[in-house]
Amino acid sequence: MKLSILLIYTGGTIGMVRDKITGVLHPFDFENLLQQIPQLQKIEANIDTISVDNPKDSATMRPGDWQELGQLIFENYNKYAGFVVLHGTDTMAYTTSALSFMFSNLGKPIIFTGSQLPIGDVRTDAMENVLTAMQLALLQDGVNSLIKEVCLYFGGQLFRGNSVTKISSEDFNAFASPKNLVLATSNIKLKVNKSLLLDTKKALEFNPHLEDSVFVYKIHPAISRVQLEQICDFINFKVLILETYGSGTMFLEDWFVNNLQKLIDKGILVINVSQCVFGSVDVLYSASKYLVDRGVVNSGSMTLETVIAKSMHLLGKKMKNEEFKSEFLANFAGELS
Ligand code: ASP
Repeated sequence: MKLSILLIYTGGTIGMVRDKITGVLHPFDFENLLQQIPQLQKIEANIDTISVDNPKDSATMRPGDWQELGQLIFENYNKYAGFVVLHGTDTMAYTTSALSFMFSNLGKPIIFTGSQLPIGDVRTDAMENVLTAMQLALLQDGVNSLIKEVCLYFGGQLFRGNSVTKISSEDFNAFASPKNLVLATSNIKLKVNKSLLLDTKKALEFNPHLEDSVFVYKIHPAISRVQLEQICDFINFKVLILETYGSGTMFLEDWFVNNLQKLIDKGILVINVSQCVFGSVDVLYSASKYLVDRGVVNSGSMTLETVIAKSMHLLGKKMKNEEFKSEFLANFAGELS
């Protein structure tokens, strides 16, 4: 029996056309997109297609779009063996992170992909990305799907959805997973690193609730006291994500520390994420030890995209701060491995 896959179009460069006069890219009709990939007919599967109501450049996506997409997949979950989502590259890693927390105990693959060049361009990278994402979604382990998690396939590599980040606006290899291993590679052979894949027998849970009361603040040597005080006094947030240096360090002048302490005393959760592409937040220096002692939460090896999405997911569960902290440090969907 042929397996069925739902191919979902959300927008992005993959489905855009170039305006002949201005050269600017804008979204076009999904039906045309399918005509551009005749090889899909050669794949041994029933492929149904659907587009979200309003396909868009992923730069304009908001958490409501993640929820709409999650809902669409949840409503179709029992009808398909897997899902392939076509998505713009700019915010794809945010969407994959968010969906990896919305769906717990997945028994099927949700594989995102897109392209750097529109599907109609002669040198497009879309064909390989879509066709391989489709083949990965169809891989079986006995009677079950081999891949049972949210992933992102791009440029020959399959990444865990909550461990991936966009690293290039030009290369066909636009994504990387610097803090986690790649789940599969596509060369002459499709090689899947089975020992890394998530596997659960538990029942699926879908929780689309998200709260966006999250603020990201990048530490840099020129931060001024006035600026920090204004942020602390006027911006409303429940989680402050500090993008720190190296293994989680930052300067510790009194005015800075006191403002941070005031936030912590008010019940604001402060999370430490490193600006470094490789490595993780670790208590190696007094500057990071100081933060931990005051209750700042270390994000370990999680990407910024994942820290944002996980925080929004946990805030959506309306839990107390202590519970938030222990859930945040727990491994939900492979984000800490
Ligand atoms: N701006 C586009 C988007 O994210 C870029 C792309 O798809 O590659 O939708």
